[in-house]
Amino acid sequence: MKPSPLTYHRPATLEEACETLSGTGGKVLAGGQSLIPLLSMRLAAPADLIDINQLPGLDAIDVAADSVTFGALVRHTALLGDKRASDAAPLLGRALAHVAHPTIRNRGTTVGSIAHADPASEMPAVLTLLGGEVHAVSTRGRRTIPVDDFFLGPLETALAEDELAVAVRVPRQSRGEGTAIDELARRHGDYAMAGVAARVRLSGSGSDAVIDDAAATYISAGDMGRRYDFSDVLRGTAPDDPELNARLSRAGDSARDIVDTDADIHASADYRSQLVAALTARVLGAAVADAAGMTVDTRDFHERSRS
Ligand SMILES: Cc1cc2nc3c(=O)[nH]c(=O)nc-3n(C[C@H](O)[C@H](O)[C@H](O)COP(=O)(O)OP(=O)(O)OC[C@H]3O[C@@H](n4cnc5c(N)ncnc54)[C@H](O)[C@@H]3O)c2cc1C
Repeated sequence: MKPSPLTYHRPATLEEACETLSGTGGKVLAGGQSLIPLLSMRLAAPADLIDINQLPGLDAIDVAADSVTFGALVRHTALLGDKRASDAAPLLGRALAHVAHPTIRNRGTTVGSIAHADPASEMPAVLTLLGGEVHAVSTRGRRTIPVDDFFLGPLETALAEDELAVAVRVPRQSRGEGTAIDELARRHGDYAMAGVAARVRLSGSGSDAVIDDAAATYISAGDMGRRYDFSDVLRGTAPDDPELNARLSRAGDSARDIVDTDADIHASADYRSQLVAALTARVLGAAVADAAGMTVDTRDFHERSRS
């Protein structure tokens, strides 16, 4: 199908984009990888489309001492290929390797994925887990929205109709912290039937290090924007403790109880719950290994990203 009639705007400056957005109540077009199919199927029918691809200064990736910030025109491919960003916040690269196929990543933006807030997408789960923030701008001014206030529900965010997300900032992974992500999809590059991103923090160092904090977020399962806490199950366990596997398995059982799943044409709710349990144990275990310095070679992710 074709989109319903609309007025196409291609502003040249951020000010012009904000004025057009505020004057028309139109939809922002970034990479178009989610919006264009919605328009074509007429599931969305805005009267105005504001293409932000001409705007200057939104394609930068800034790696600072404490954070990584990427602009609204940074394509998934650019962020995935940015070694400084992946070194500073390794979960970014690890997660982006799971996002769709190279052609979609070449056009789709990571900020657009976050603004779209699809519960089947990886990057909202990553941002929720890492505790980042979204920088927004409108004719009314600029504001920073902490991620805990950002996701209101599936496909629903705190961005007002006249607001443009200009950038997203995530904190740098600190020493003693580890992250991991994994998912199961019917075919490589498809949206996941279920996926898990996890972060673990160790206290102490060397042979005295024990798990202090453990959390996970879910893809195609659970509540949008919610961090699930597994600290009680894992706290006090050393990364090389023979008990660790049993505790990870308990964390998986606990996830099966607390993470809601739905059925769709790809999987039953019950099967999704089994995936949630198995993936939670596996991904928390990988995050513990990462925190203990047994880091996964990031080339693995870059190799996968080419397929
Ligand atoms: C076949 C296919 C498979 C895919 N598989 C996956 C997958 O496995 N995992 C995954 O995560 N994604 C997947 N995607 C989606 C892809 O990652 C998109 O790039 C992403 O969801 C949206 O980014 P975009 O830049 O294309 O946004 P657009 O499609 O341009 O916009 C999406 C929505 O976000 C809004 N928006 C975008 N940017 C901004 C902004 N800066 N400020 C305010 N609002 C904004 C738009 O108005 C629109 O409502 C897939 C897409 C396709 C077509």
